[in-house]
Amino acid sequence: MSAVLPASQMRADAEVDVAIIGAGACGLVAALRAVEAGADVLVLERDGKPTGSTSMSSGFIPAPATRFQRAIGVEEDSPERFAADIQAKAKDRADPGLVASVSETIGPALEWLADRHGLAWIVLDDFLYPGHSRHRMHAVPEKTGAALLQRLATAADAAGVMVATGAHVTGLFADEGHVRGVRISRADGTEEHLSCKALVLACNGYGGNADVVAQHIPELDGAQYYGHAGNQGDAVLWGQALGADIRDLSGYQGHGSLAHPHQILISWALMMEGAIQINTDGRRFSNEHGGYSEQAVNVLGQPARVAWNVYDRRIHEFAQSFPDYRDAMEAGAIRKASSASELAKLIGVDEPVLSETLRTIAALQRGDAADEFGRDFTTKPALKAPLFAVKVTGALFHTQGGLMVDGDARVVAADGKPFANLFAGGGAARGVSGPDVSGYLSGNGLLTAIALGYIAGRGASRA
Ligand SMILES: Cc1cc2nc3c(=O)[nH]c(=O)nc-3n(C[C@H](O)[C@H](O)[C@H](O)COP(=O)(O)OP(=O)(O)OC[C@H]3O[C@@H](n4cnc5c(N)ncnc54)[C@H](O)[C@@H]3O)c2cc1C
Repeated sequence: MSAVLPASQMRADAEVDVAIIGAGACGLVAALRAVEAGADVLVLERDGKPTGSTSMSSGFIPAPATRFQRAIGVEEDSPERFAADIQAKAKDRADPGLVASVSETIGPALEWLADRHGLAWIVLDDFLYPGHSRHRMHAVPEKTGAALLQRLATAADAAGVMVATGAHVTGLFADEGHVRGVRISRADGTEEHLSCKALVLACNGYGGNADVVAQHIPELDGAQYYGHAGNQGDAVLWGQALGADIRDLSGYQGHGSLAHPHQILISWALMMEGAIQINTDGRRFSNEHGGYSEQAVNVLGQPARVAWNVYDRRIHEFAQSFPDYRDAMEAGAIRKASSASELAKLIGVDEPVLSETLRTIAALQRGDAADEFGRDFTTKPALKAPLFAVKVTGALFHTQGGLMVDGDARVVAADGKPFANLFAGGGAARGVSGPDVSGYLSGNGLLTAIALGYIAGRGASRA
């Protein structure tokens, strides 16, 4: 049971300048920054091998005005434009200071990771995610979160960052709001106490804690959580005990396109390229270009809580650039049919209804009518046989509420004053998506993991 304990109960078995809880993107970036500033750093990771939600992710990181963008001809981007996109998606309900801070920091952070730590970045320029006005999604060349985490871990190792694995932090020692150290519980039942001068909470959110999810996100009570199971909300629980300012607990990233029952992410890029979602009656039910996060709730609202993504060969071929999609093909999740009637039989939907749906979107594509859900079909070619389909469901990917932090990524108390030596980033901190599912702009997760990790690492090394 995680707890905040009186500092008087701590017997320091060891001491470091900066302790960091969690070896995902946030924790490793914070560690690289703190080590570079000369601090003695220890990252504490509950798992035997660090993976986190970072390695489950697609690894796409939005960043404006980088030299990687300029190299492919994307000139007109800026932190201000990016901040405006974030706030437009969040309907202006994200904290403006936090939005400005992460929008300004993420570009320099990615360039620093390249220059100082050898990470290579490509910019995805073949499609735009909903709400992004520029091509600014960066990824490592493998285009996976697993490769991103591996590259960060390799960089951390080379920089001399120590990572203790199998080190489950089950308590913080604090007095009068000053953190003195942490309690580490080992699998064999033993405990160690580590004293630290500063602590960074990089242990993500509460997606893995069904009770906390049910309390704050009732619409997803009982829905599948497809993030890292070890993210049990410890940062929020410790923050509550310490009197921290905690915001947006009802905010989260959902996803409306998780192959079912295979549990493989089918990229939303397919929708942006022209795919549609239909329910088991064969009908569309939403504007697929609204955003994949809110689409989780739309899909879960359909019969049997599933939908079918339907598209054609052009999109099927484009999708094969995504490793997850290739995994889905290998797992047998992708169905193919030579005509609409064959597809209807194959996926068990009513043939006249599916044919009518396809006739309607063909008319929308020609611009003959306006979509009842508001999607513009005219920008992409019409779907043509053969047709492909994959059954998907909606899921919770990660939570967006968390600890309010200041411009130095220091956790802020309910009275507005920052804690002197407690920092947070990534899923542990309040995100920039506002208080509900629709506010999540694609990439907001790794954005705050890397940008706040970058800020917190420097701040913690000075604390
Ligand atoms: C399928 C999927 C796809 C995604 N795709 C993208 C994407 O393309 N772009 C994007 O921006 N975001 C994406 N996200 C979200 C993104 O993965 C997260 O926002 C991001 O990885 C959070 O990073 P983090 O470092 O805060 O947490 P994590 O990477 O989850 O790391 C937290 C670590 O803390 C450890 N930990 C937790 N509690 C303790 C404890 N008490 N003691 C010790 N260790 C502890 C955990 O084991 C874990 O290793 C995706 C998420 C999912 C699930």
